[in-house]
Amino acid sequence: MAAGPAAGLRPAIRLHPATMDRYVVIGNPVAHSRSPEIHARFARATGETLVYERLLVEPGDFARAAREFFAAGGRGANVTLPFKVDAFDFAQERTQRAAQAGAVNTLAARDGLVLGDNTDGAGLVRDLTANLGLALAGSRILLVGAGGAARGVVGPLLALGPALLVIANRTRARADELARAFEPGGPVRSAGFADMGRGFDLVVNATSSSTHGEPLELPAEVFAPGATAYDMAYGAAARAFLDRARAAGARASDGLGMLVEQAAESFHLWRGKRPETAGVIAALRAA
Ligand code: NDP
Repeated sequence: MAAGPAAGLRPAIRLHPATMDRYVVIGNPVAHSRSPEIHARFARATGETLVYERLLVEPGDFARAAREFFAAGGRGANVTLPFKVDAFDFAQERTQRAAQAGAVNTLAARDGLVLGDNTDGAGLVRDLTANLGLALAGSRILLVGAGGAARGVVGPLLALGPALLVIANRTRARADELARAFEPGGPVRSAGFADMGRGFDLVVNATSSSTHGEPLELPAEVFAPGATAYDMAYGAAARAFLDRARAAGARASDGLGMLVEQAAESFHLWRGKRPETAGVIAALRAA
């Protein structure tokens, strides 16, 4: 009798990782990123087979690392702080929303070229409107921060038709530049921290202050009655900002929903399938 598996017992097929489609999240730091867990959940739920890992890159080394990854057959990457503008420069083609933002958080191998997209704005808007149920047409929005994440969300927030969007940044000149770039898209103006105004229906913290251990402190009057405070950071990093907002009477949400929603947009670009997100957000919150 020939040696081999007993009839009816088929050996498990083991795909070597090198034969699977590879994806990474590139950042510095990147050890904290929950993207590998999120994409593993999406892959399981949609029946896709892929590998998704973290790639720590030193400042100034983004282009070399990304070139090496795609030359070795990598299919796509998420890009996080502080490389979103480097990723914009690296991409050989860009979607309209990435071009508008001037920042890229998603790279995809396409027909021998690398396409750059920005899914941050779509992710934030989906979390605000579909998950949190906010109606923002005619509202007053304060966006604090003018870095890579803020760049990605200004266009999609203006597309919701607010009465006013104020971009306030510690370094005023960056807010000025961002507001100027988006002026044709709607009622947007810039501010420094001393003159951001008062009575906003939605206040979004798009600064990285909490990651530097300096939680953002805003005067209570920025919140209109019934306002929502949203921190793009999530978990413990968002706590101090959100606690202060609650004390000022605002409803508060961290950025975990945005994280999952922007990841779902990236997954859709890469795999052509849109994963369900509510269960993934709930599972991550519970973990
Ligand atoms: P960048 O480094 O590009 O920008 C940082 C911004 O934070 C700048 O506007 C900077 O102001 C401001 N800032 C930094 N420290 C302070 C401080 N102590 N006080 C006030 N302002 C400060 O970062 P990103 O835009 O890429 O990311 C911003 C945040 O958003 C991060 O916490 C990131 O993790 C989070 N994020 C979350 C996402 C999600 O899906 N939930 C997606 C993308 C980002 P200045 O110009 O003066 O230096």
